[in-house]
Amino acid sequence: MTQAPEGVTVVLGAQWGDEGKGKLVDILAADADICARCAGGNNAGHTIVVPNDKGEKKTYAFNLLPSGLINEKCVGFIGSGVVVHIPSFFNELDTLERKGLPVANRLFVSDRAHLVLGFHQIVDGLKEIELGGSSIGTTKRGIGPAYSSKASRSGLRVHHLYDPSFPAKFRKLVEGRFKRYGHFEFDTEGEIEMLQAFAERLRPHIVDGPTFMHQALASGKRVLVEGANALMLDIDYGTYPYVTSSATSIGGVVTGLGIPPFAIKKVIGVIKAYTTRVGGGPFPTEQFGTIGETLQEVGAEYGTVTGRRRRCGWLDLVVMKYSTLINGYTSLNLTKLDVLDGFEEIKVATGHKIDGVEITGFPADLDRLAQVEVEYVTLPGWKTDISNITSFADLPPNCQSYVKFIEDYLGVKVQFIGVGPSRSSSITVF
Ligand code: IMP
Repeated sequence: MTQAPEGVTVVLGAQWGDEGKGKLVDILAADADICARCAGGNNAGHTIVVPNDKGEKKTYAFNLLPSGLINEKCVGFIGSGVVVHIPSFFNELDTLERKGLPVANRLFVSDRAHLVLGFHQIVDGLKEIELGGSSIGTTKRGIGPAYSSKASRSGLRVHHLYDPSFPAKFRKLVEGRFKRYGHFEFDTEGEIEMLQAFAERLRPHIVDGPTFMHQALASGKRVLVEGANALMLDIDYGTYPYVTSSATSIGGVVTGLGIPPFAIKKVIGVIKAYTTRVGGGPFPTEQFGTIGETLQEVGAEYGTVTGRRRRCGWLDLVVMKYSTLINGYTSLNLTKLDVLDGFEEIKVATGHKIDGVEITGFPADLDRLAQVEVEYVTLPGWKTDISNITSFADLPPNCQSYVKFIEDYLGVKVQFIGVGPSRSSSITVF
């Protein structure tokens, strides 16, 4: 087992999300004292399948709570940069406990985290309707509207739940939304009552976020940060506006947890062996015909949060280079490599051109991005089932070459390789 070092190890999605971060977090959480979420909310989704001694499998779903909680010795922490929907917090907590995973006494949330309120979720849907054909395809969990409230300095944070002015502030926020979107159906007083009832139950979970992290680091705790969403969905560096509303990049780890950057010892980028995306927005290597369908079927590419079919295409190393330069990965976890087992040939995007001229970086302007011609390198497939292989040396030579091609292009080593859905179907290269 690869030991998580003291200090902070970060796991980040390197593409458009759903790279399979959950499995790596699950593996690394075995050696972590704390597993922290730093950004996003219950728009993220990990399903972890754990076999017990009798060979039976239990499935645990995590959307808001850190999935490292699967290790019963690991403490879960929801940082200040996360937006928290309180009913979902308790719903998830109760579901995990009902399944036999005790979490209530080892789950903490920063007092500074903002709340996702019921009307944020309604507004998320209304905004999408307003956008019509150019809708973002959000998860409708209220994430964008909650971060909007935060940025406009009218949001409510966890500590506000205990403030006598909470009901008045809440009503004012709702009034503002009615002015903007017309009078939608919403039980303001019912929601205030519900949140005030939850507030008492939440109290033992609340900590001073930055102090909690500081004390953990000062006492040599091993902290694993579970990134949510992914770099290409980052509010600043993703394909704006087809992004989520938080900093999903390495920057979000520092601001979302309130830690100094030098506390971070490792940044592991999770990269799927091909590319997928849910929701709207550009995706240069997207495949619409048989190739896209095969990737979708073999890879079972349906969103864990919304159940939507994921759009599929070849691996885009231009995207990965951009992602690497922003996040500074110290190593990579290449996931779902087995999904490519059946292909005669595999394409990898190695360049983007506009009007025949090679471009550097990744275009900020979506109109320019739409003009990109993708340059591909075609690599031979391996036509072998790799799902039971446990060491890099035993992978077929063409499969090893595929991995090395990625490493050489990006200048970052692949440390973990996913070859199947279960916990054991993972190769640790070093
Ligand atoms: P929101 O985060 O619900 O506002 O959605 C904004 C965009 O991010 C949409 O395209 C979503 O499909 C996408 N998105 C949000 N969370 C995830 C995720 O965990 N995986 C993949 N896509 C996501």
